[in-house]
Amino acid sequence: MSNNIGGFESTHESACISHWHDPESDEFVITDGNGAYIYDEDGNEYLDLISSLYCTNAGHSNQHIIDACNAQLQAVPYVSSSQGNDSRTALADKLATVAPESFTDVVFSVSGSEANELAVQFARKAKDAPKVLTRWRSYHGSTYGAGALTGEPGTRNAVESHATATGAVKFLPPVAHNSPFDADSPEELGEKAASHVEYVIRNEGPDSIAALLIEPVAGSSGGYPAPPGYFERLRELCDMYDIFLIADEVITGFGRCGEMFGIQTENVEPDMITFAKGVTSGYAPLAGVIMSDTVGEHVREGTNLGQTFAGHPVACAAGLAAVEEYEDHLIDDVQKRAPVLERELRSLEEKHDVITDVRGRGFLWTIVVENPRTGEPFVDSVTETDVENPVHAVVDHAKEHGVLLTTGRPEYQLMLCPPFCIDEDEIRTA
Ligand code: PLP
Repeated sequence: MSNNIGGFESTHESACISHWHDPESDEFVITDGNGAYIYDEDGNEYLDLISSLYCTNAGHSNQHIIDACNAQLQAVPYVSSSQGNDSRTALADKLATVAPESFTDVVFSVSGSEANELAVQFARKAKDAPKVLTRWRSYHGSTYGAGALTGEPGTRNAVESHATATGAVKFLPPVAHNSPFDADSPEELGEKAASHVEYVIRNEGPDSIAALLIEPVAGSSGGYPAPPGYFERLRELCDMYDIFLIADEVITGFGRCGEMFGIQTENVEPDMITFAKGVTSGYAPLAGVIMSDTVGEHVREGTNLGQTFAGHPVACAAGLAAVEEYEDHLIDDVQKRAPVLERELRSLEEKHDVITDVRGRGFLWTIVVENPRTGEPFVDSVTETDVENPVHAVVDHAKEHGVLLTTGRPEYQLMLCPPFCIDEDEIRTA
């Protein structure tokens, strides 16, 4: 069969549309979704424990969000960001309301990667300083700048030659498991890891650093929450050395960790929050930066940045409806059901030697799988060289049994981030 693609005759069965999905080899084509479930073209049902890609927080058929998108499409599908639009204004107001009290300004973008790049641009301009601190084992996106901010070697190395463009400087993460810090307690780990950040700041030169960009709970790059006291100490350091603290809430935002924003579980206020994914529950692409009045002042002064689809009205309508759902009941549901999920995962840890750590918060969890004989991961954590890694077999096996899981990077970790509409029985069954 030949297809006519953009006026060109193609001899392929279908066009190659993306680097993640190869229609020649992967037959998993999703045709339907309902609540916490998705269905493939053969009608097979899967419990979606990964919220598609950490984003469909409200599940797959939320009528309130669908109605909001439809209403905006009927009214007017597109309005540029130099013109006014009610959905956009209403969502910006709502975001300023649900964010920390000092937050007043919102700038929209399309993807989380761009949101992080925007936040970094704002910080560098406001502080007139070139550098940004980020962690090894972090994920901040895959574009030119965001890839360089990322500390997950696979992504970062793909943009290595551009790494200096962002002024990114890496520091070590506070991971308890196989930690580079010699600590006897989580508190000591938090203290040592934060002292290391101060060491980096002092050696780089505080005046050269505009911001520290960090995920409240690291997501796809290793799924680890911070030890107690760590974020409070980082906030103190940022205040002491006059550096903006930017929380990358692309995964942790909008209820994923049991509060509207993940950083709220750490009792600190950042200067900027970047968001994407859950803001619309994946119903339309939208991202952006919410910022304190102090940062907003600099941004308002003279930003002429903009993207055609930033703050798209249909996406903003989806966003407003999704945030209403989170406020109305979905975050309460996460708070109620997270202990059940944690209990079930911990019981797996007790049963299986290969599970050496289970960690997370709210509805964002990681299962670490290692070789019980050697105490080593099945995968080299930097080069990701595979030594018969059983994690992929678990993901495949789960899929055969109708449950979708994914791996984190490095790939000795299983990631779980269910949609908030999952019920307790479904958690236990999974
Ligand atoms: N930041 C974090 C924490 C993420 O997990 C991601 C994507 O997974 C991004 C940024 C990049 O977002 P996007 O894929 O929308 O560019």
